[in-house]
Amino acid sequence: MSDIIRRDPRAEWIARNRLHPLHAAMQPVQHSWMGPNGILRKNVHGVGFIGPNGIKRIDRSGAQQGGASKRTAAAEVQLPLHQVAAPAFYINVVPDMVGGRLSSHDRDLLGLARQLAGSDGAVLAVVFGEHKESTFATAGVDRLLVLEGHEFDGYSPEQRVQGLRAVDNQFNPRHWLLPDSRSGGGELGRRFAASLKERPATRVWQIKGQECIGRAGAGQEDLARPLPRLILAAAECADPVSETRHEVLPVELSTTLARSLPRIEDLGAVAVDPAAIPMAEAEFIFSGGNGVKDWALFHQTAAALGATEGASRVAVDDGFMARDRQVGASGTWVTARVYVAVGISGAIQHLQGIGACDKVVAINLDPGCDMIKRADLSVIGESAAILQALIEAVAAYRNGAKRDAA
Ligand SMILES: Cc1cc2nc3c(=O)[nH]c(=O)nc-3n(C[C@H](O)[C@H](O)[C@H](O)COP(=O)(O)OP(=O)(O)OC[C@H]3O[C@@H](n4cnc5c(N)ncnc54)[C@H](O)[C@@H]3O)c2cc1C
Repeated sequence: MSDIIRRDPRAEWIARNRLHPLHAAMQPVQHSWMGPNGILRKNVHGVGFIGPNGIKRIDRSGAQQGGASKRTAAAEVQLPLHQVAAPAFYINVVPDMVGGRLSSHDRDLLGLARQLAGSDGAVLAVVFGEHKESTFATAGVDRLLVLEGHEFDGYSPEQRVQGLRAVDNQFNPRHWLLPDSRSGGGELGRRFAASLKERPATRVWQIKGQECIGRAGAGQEDLARPLPRLILAAAECADPVSETRHEVLPVELSTTLARSLPRIEDLGAVAVDPAAIPMAEAEFIFSGGNGVKDWALFHQTAAALGATEGASRVAVDDGFMARDRQVGASGTWVTARVYVAVGISGAIQHLQGIGACDKVVAINLDPGCDMIKRADLSVIGESAAILQALIEAVAAYRNGAKRDAA
């Protein structure tokens, strides 16, 4: 087994949260043994550790429990199963499923759907084509409808709207929820609303009773309105589901979808120069800071990964990167799906700029730095060695893929 310590931020959070159903399972195992006279002995002092000055310390951050014990929430204890035998109504969700998996925006949306479904309703997720997701159960999905077929591949809004209309006819959901995102949900939701001749609520960030609040006026104002059936919700509209497990029962369409000739033809993705993508729109950012010692190697790695380059302010001030590449409070606020921070300490001004990034990977020498605390995946070590290994891994992966294709 690898010696690499992998942190599990979710497990650490549960270990800190005494109200969470898995809290007890996340506590360290109490050392106990059988004494010579057959009595079970327990070391009740086995909690915590002795600090360098000889004083006992108990780490209440959860890192000791969640991280060091290498447990994962799912592996230890099953979350309570929420079942809806005969749903009184449906709340339909159409997640973006970027890369075939639920994004954090999708999970927020499922959290919102769960709130709207209460105990009688069921959350029905509608997914187009093949997916790679295995955590629908813990994301709050009661029913799963996969609309299969090549007609849904790529950019196919017309066919998808047709599919959603068929689902609407069959399940007549109380609400439809789509992510108001650039990854598809924003456009699909508006097209779907137009085809149903219904007015959707857009950029919704809060629902209170029968009223919802969405951003308006170029993001400068809030617009409160009665809750419509179709809701296009912003990221962080609700907390993702974390305390229950759901059935994910498969459901099917009872009718076969009529195939109409689409007016839009998808000619496939166009290869673009990652450097030409504006930072604010880049999906994959490879960012360098003061810990990058070999900038030629940094550029080579970014090119091998096909990532857009970013930088900390120190890297920009030192003249290694252009000013328009600076990420952070006084640079660009980015929304990448994956943000790789190489040798960046994680100063508050930098972290502000990456607050909306989905997954953060940190490469750093210092395991205690703030970027490592923010990261979903951390690699501790010398940046040059790690970048070199990354280039080799990418090359091996590409060669393997070519061999498989041949
Ligand atoms: C008003 C104001 C606005 C600011 N705005 C921004 C902003 O928009 N964006 C921004 O980024 N900063 C901004 N800053 C600056 C910010 O406070 C930090 O100084 C800056 O982010 C630090 O950059 P860094 O992490 O690259 O450098 P450092 O803080 O020097 O960190 C370098 C990191 O690299 C690691 N390291 C060192 N050597 C290696 C190695 N060989 N391999 C791997 N890791 C290594 C170190 O452990 C360390 O964590 C602002 C500051 C102010 C006052």
